[in-house]
Amino acid sequence: MEKAGDAFSKDQLAKLEAAVAFATDCHTGQKRRSGERYVVHPLTVAGFLIDWGLDIDSVVAGALHDVVEDCDVKLSEIKQRFGEQVAFLVDGVTKLGKVRAGMQDIDTYLPKTKDNLTKLLIATGADVRVIIIKLADRLHNLQTLSSLPPEKQRKIARESLEVFAPLADRLNMGQVRVQIEELSFSFLDPTRFNYLRKQIKSRLGRASKKLDHIREEVKAILKKNHIKFEMDGRVKSIYSFHKKLAKHNQNIESIYDIIALRIVVKDKPTCYQVLGLIHHLYTPMINRIKDYIAVPKQNGYQSLHTTVITRDEHIVEFQIRTAEMHEYAEKGLAASFHYNEQKLTDAYKTGRIARLPAELNWIFELQTAAAQLKAGQKVDMKKMRLHLFSDKIFVYTPKGDIFELPEGSMPLDFAYRVHTDIGKNAIGFKINGRISKANTRLKTGDVVEILTSPKTKPTIDWLDRVISPFARNKIRAALRQQGTKTLSSPANPPKKPS
Ligand code: MN
Repeated sequence: MEKAGDAFSKDQLAKLEAAVAFATDCHTGQKRRSGERYVVHPLTVAGFLIDWGLDIDSVVAGALHDVVEDCDVKLSEIKQRFGEQVAFLVDGVTKLGKVRAGMQDIDTYLPKTKDNLTKLLIATGADVRVIIIKLADRLHNLQTLSSLPPEKQRKIARESLEVFAPLADRLNMGQVRVQIEELSFSFLDPTRFNYLRKQIKSRLGRASKKLDHIREEVKAILKKNHIKFEMDGRVKSIYSFHKKLAKHNQNIESIYDIIALRIVVKDKPTCYQVLGLIHHLYTPMINRIKDYIAVPKQNGYQSLHTTVITRDEHIVEFQIRTAEMHEYAEKGLAASFHYNEQKLTDAYKTGRIARLPAELNWIFELQTAAAQLKAGQKVDMKKMRLHLFSDKIFVYTPKGDIFELPEGSMPLDFAYRVHTDIGKNAIGFKINGRISKANTRLKTGDVVEILTSPKTKPTIDWLDRVISPFARNKIRAALRQQGTKTLSSPANPPKKPS
């Protein structure tokens, strides 16, 4: 909580103290499932919001976010004590919670989740802070998830991975997204999680020595060129490693960027200078040079990425960015609500970042949609959903295992995603219990059953029934084995890796 002292005025701190006292009073006698006093939860949420750099009203709303729902406090009382803004935020968070609570049955719950949540996000989305408070709420719930029964753990973990992690990503809140993903994944698939954690650990052990050497070489050349910098190593998260493995035929050796060296410098021109020096030192892999400074990601993320081959033939990824870009990548939109607002504006004016994060288009669209809804006009929900959850769908096995696929995927993509043996022997598909054609586009929430026969083999027309690079590569490999000729260039170029 030390940041609070620097960031908030005396009056604001007094307001926060009053909120803490009020929440403590309201939640007296209530306990969480873990046996802990309930008020620990909203206070932890408020603490996260301080760490993330949010404004005082959001922090106060975080401390009070459960009092309407759990203590029957009237919204009017919150308004009277803490002001209209706080009451508005608490109301938004409460409404979000209610929609979820209304969907009890897990089977009907999952496919509907996104629709309802998206509608609600739009309804409350006039203020994106509601979503950020909800992210803090969800993060703490995930951290304390082990005290819930396993069925509930999975349900919450699944929803977090589907809805909340992508939301954090949309807001470019990188740290929060990774925390949500790692926790959710550890509950959804503990065996895989632990296996991959060990894999990463053992590879790190092998990599660290050679990396030290490379680090020294890079430091030397930067110093020689009088560049001020900070450098650290970033280890890939377990969940992103898991996702990457799926794209790479589960071949661990083909994943280079398990560690990336991150170099933070003072301004944009220096970023490009550092890139040049690194390319002078080592051979870049030409198709892995990414200029997210000139062309930021949709969520505003900026950096230069490059993967190089050293003289000892080690493969290393570098990420080069300014301090502002770094802060924004870690904290995202949350950081622009409070004391960073001025800093970001200054950085924008002096050209240290390319554009203001507040210009993120989808937020404007969200706000427009909210205004339209309020005015009783129709809003195209499908379009909104595309913006929020752009390019991924989530599809289930009949047992309820969840798989993430690129938008536009078909049953064979899913089959290969579940297991190569299931893919190559697929003879028919049931989508939501109905026999369906192989060229059916899958939707989020679809339950897909794959019928297999050991006699089935991939044929060349299978390449038209998949869109994922992974399935495509598997089919190609099988065709090659059978001696069938295939075109060398893919019919659908693979999507840019994220
Ligand atoms: Mn809560």
